[in-house]
Amino acid sequence: MSVSVAVVGAGPAGFFAIDALLRGQPAVRVDLIERLPSPYGLARDGVAPDHQGTKAITRQFERILMNGARVRFLGHVELGRDVTLEELRELYDAVVIAIGAPIDRRLGIPGEDLPGVYGSGAFVGWYNGHPDHSALAPLLDGPHVAVIGHGNVAIDVARVLAKTPAEMAAGDLPCHAAQAIAAAPLRLVHLIGRRGPAEARFTSAELAELGTLARAHPRVDAADLPAKSDALPAGAPKFARKNLDILRGFAAAPADKPVSIAFRFHARPIAILGTERVEAIRLEPEMAGGGREVVELPVSTVITAIGYRCRPLTGLPFSDATGVIANTDGRIDAGLYAVGWAKRGPSGTIPTNRADAMAVVDRLLAERGAIGPAGKPGGAALDRLLAERRVRVVSFADWQRINAAEVARAAPGHPREKFVRVDDMLAVLSS
Ligand code: NAP
Repeated sequence: MSVSVAVVGAGPAGFFAIDALLRGQPAVRVDLIERLPSPYGLARDGVAPDHQGTKAITRQFERILMNGARVRFLGHVELGRDVTLEELRELYDAVVIAIGAPIDRRLGIPGEDLPGVYGSGAFVGWYNGHPDHSALAPLLDGPHVAVIGHGNVAIDVARVLAKTPAEMAAGDLPCHAAQAIAAAPLRLVHLIGRRGPAEARFTSAELAELGTLARAHPRVDAADLPAKSDALPAGAPKFARKNLDILRGFAAAPADKPVSIAFRFHARPIAILGTERVEAIRLEPEMAGGGREVVELPVSTVITAIGYRCRPLTGLPFSDATGVIANTDGRIDAGLYAVGWAKRGPSGTIPTNRADAMAVVDRLLAERGAIGPAGKPGGAALDRLLAERRVRVVSFADWQRINAAEVARAAPGHPREKFVRVDDMLAVLSS
């Protein structure tokens, strides 16, 4: 008898879990439930549009969906709206939650809700054409922008804002964002981190890329950098020495391009200032021994790139302190598991999710006894339920039509022009 598993969330973690399930258990059948009509999660809507090499992982995921005998894609089906967790647990032998961490963490400082302040989840979603955020229309009308956080997302945001249309041409930046970014009068991006250069979270390749841009140069004050011989602070990432070398190179390079990306270290945002909208950001020095003063930088846009939280869902225990689904090594309850950012929070690159999902699936399969005898009704029963509720389920074949339409309407040189509204994706299917 086959074992039925519902995986909820078609991002990298969900796909790696399916891959592990298919390899680990010949009799398993998986239904992949996704609230958008499009699969691939952050690989489609989070990875920067100019990083097509990273997005190529979607081809691997596509091959998993081609295994139609064992895996079905049920797009445009939302947990909590179209089907409850309780129902899924009744229908499937096991349920794996892979819904990511889509909510922007908040700074918790005055002025955070002023127009012109955006979380990176919303901002990256906007420039990636995610239906939740494609209508954001961020204010990008001033020359100075602050990006808060020293992680890879902050680097992505700064780079996408600073690149020229020609540099973005081979990517899948949607038209609405391409036009807005090209029209922005950008001159200076402040990249603001509360800790020092050795503690920054960005990885070396991503950092180095900022030194290769056509119209923008990184700006680093050499006085902010430790001497080569200095010991690294506790908690410095393993790539810190390489990052410091790259930052030293930036500090020594000429500042000869029209746009600056200026690194600010040991600077903690304490207020965002403005009446009708953002006008400035106030930073407090965050250094032992002090020596610096509170500064106010005039900026007309602030983008926070300080991490994410999971969205609490009925029936799923939630850890408010960490912002993830409460779980023990991926186990939430009997027959109920979590993988990816929903399980461990927003850390790691896409491949990190492979080992993580494999470990959880190993556990799921080992606990088959706890799941109970296989043989719950599985997909056929879900199909009936969704049909009763008149849910327009988007199948893999449907997605392939949407995908083909996106590719077909792309401007020359671009891989695709995304549909950025759910209705527009569904309209492809009724044409
Ligand atoms: P991240 O790497 O955890 O960086 C978050 C940054 O926000 C850190 O500098 C952190 O500072 C700062 N921060 C957090 N709370 C703050 C606060 N209240 N005030 C000021 N600063 C605050 O997270 P991320 O950039 O969102 O990336 C998430 C994950 O995706 C990471 O693992 C990242 O490597 C990965 N990613 C990878 C790529 C790529 O490979 N190209 C691209 C994008 C994302 P502290 O260190 O002081 O906490």
